[in-house]
Amino acid sequence: MTEKITELIEKTPLLNDIKNGKEIFWENTSYLPTEQATKETKYSMADIEDAEARLQRFASFIQTAYPETALTGGIIESPLSEISAMQGHLNETLGTKVDGKLWLKRDDLLPISGTIKARGAIYEVLKHAETLALKEGMLKSIEEDYAVFASESFRNFFSGFNITVGTTGNLGISVGTMGRKLGFDVTVHMSVEAKLWKKEYLRNIGVEVIEHDTDFSRAVENGRAASDSDPKSYFVDDEHSEELFFGYTVGGFRMKKQLEEQGVTVDADHPLFVYLPCGIGGSPGGITFGLKQAFGEHVHCFFAEPTKMPSMLVGLMTEKFDEVSVFDFQLGGLTIADGLAVPRTSGLVAKLMRTFFSGGYSIDDDVFKALQTTIYEKESIFLEPAAVAGLIGPYNLMASPEGQTYMNNKNLTAKMGNATHIAWGTGGSMVPEKDRAIFLEESSHFLM
Ligand SMILES: *Cc1c(COP(=O)(O)O)cnc(C)c1O
Repeated sequence: MTEKITELIEKTPLLNDIKNGKEIFWENTSYLPTEQATKETKYSMADIEDAEARLQRFASFIQTAYPETALTGGIIESPLSEISAMQGHLNETLGTKVDGKLWLKRDDLLPISGTIKARGAIYEVLKHAETLALKEGMLKSIEEDYAVFASESFRNFFSGFNITVGTTGNLGISVGTMGRKLGFDVTVHMSVEAKLWKKEYLRNIGVEVIEHDTDFSRAVENGRAASDSDPKSYFVDDEHSEELFFGYTVGGFRMKKQLEEQGVTVDADHPLFVYLPCGIGGSPGGITFGLKQAFGEHVHCFFAEPTKMPSMLVGLMTEKFDEVSVFDFQLGGLTIADGLAVPRTSGLVAKLMRTFFSGGYSIDDDVFKALQTTIYEKESIFLEPAAVAGLIGPYNLMASPEGQTYMNNKNLTAKMGNATHIAWGTGGSMVPEKDRAIFLEESSHFLM
């Protein structure tokens, strides 16, 4: 760091609260209207369409390899649920009334790997498999029926190649599950946060798990170095991957159809707010990019992080992106939200999304625990800790001075009765019963 932290704080006083481990709500002053913001990137709607078309090509393979996806024709998608009991409860206990409707996007129920990573990681593994198959002549053209990817000859072919990834856990589960299904040799480098069950799960499906007693950024570094030294190895790079990003964009764009099907209107008088748990930034970034292409100015996207690991917040607020880490602010202790335990944001995503995010906020570990037990009690939905961060978004927006300023600036205050709020529930269904019980026991004193 060339600039001292004290100088950065002088420029942006809210950073002082971050440094002191306080919860904050931040409005992004670099935000630009979507059309203009999109023009300033090298990406466009065409990238989302390309990714969607690839996922459609692979649908016959997915359906063959995972019969549980037959209902959606091999498309990996999740439902959207109203959570009115949760909303009613929080309206009472938090003393802030959120009008409009609160929904939960159920990525905890995504088929195959049960977290939001199924969008980005599975997409990247499929794209890599397609590229190899075309290059080596296993596949003649993209017009063929991709069900052949489930065949023994394809599995044999892919067994000559390795896929490597560094992760706090969930990215490894998605890459490992799909990689092994296709027949790849898979190596997963796990950071200190990774839960035991995730390691056991991966070892059981034949993945080589390498455990590190260091943080996520180091686990990624180690994985990348090992993979780079092997020409047959492909590295899924959570810090720099465009493919992961494209996979996530599809999930955002598909909301247009899903909300239409639910009879939800999104327009100038019916604003849409989406609250996304944020680790390295790929999933909230990609989904926001897709949402913005679908709804433009009518959607307002906020990312959510633990107060112990506010890596995207410090990256954007200082405009130093991946050149600053939470350690520079003496933060970075173990957080219960293991899926968000990333000390340094992705430079690719942070720079790209600088003009798209409406803002972000941070929450304390106790709030994660309280949200986890409360949604379990009120809606009988088990989410893993990282996945609950979006639930408090509408309350932080309505109750914080910064949130109120945001609504005033955008002329939203009078329209909040028509608002749709979506908390993106990013994972949970794969957590084993035993581990669920431990989470709920640990969090049981923290009801909201
Ligand atoms: C990875 C993850 C996130 C955040 O995604 P990033 O791409 O790391 O920002 C959120 N929730 C869960 C459950 C995750 O596994």
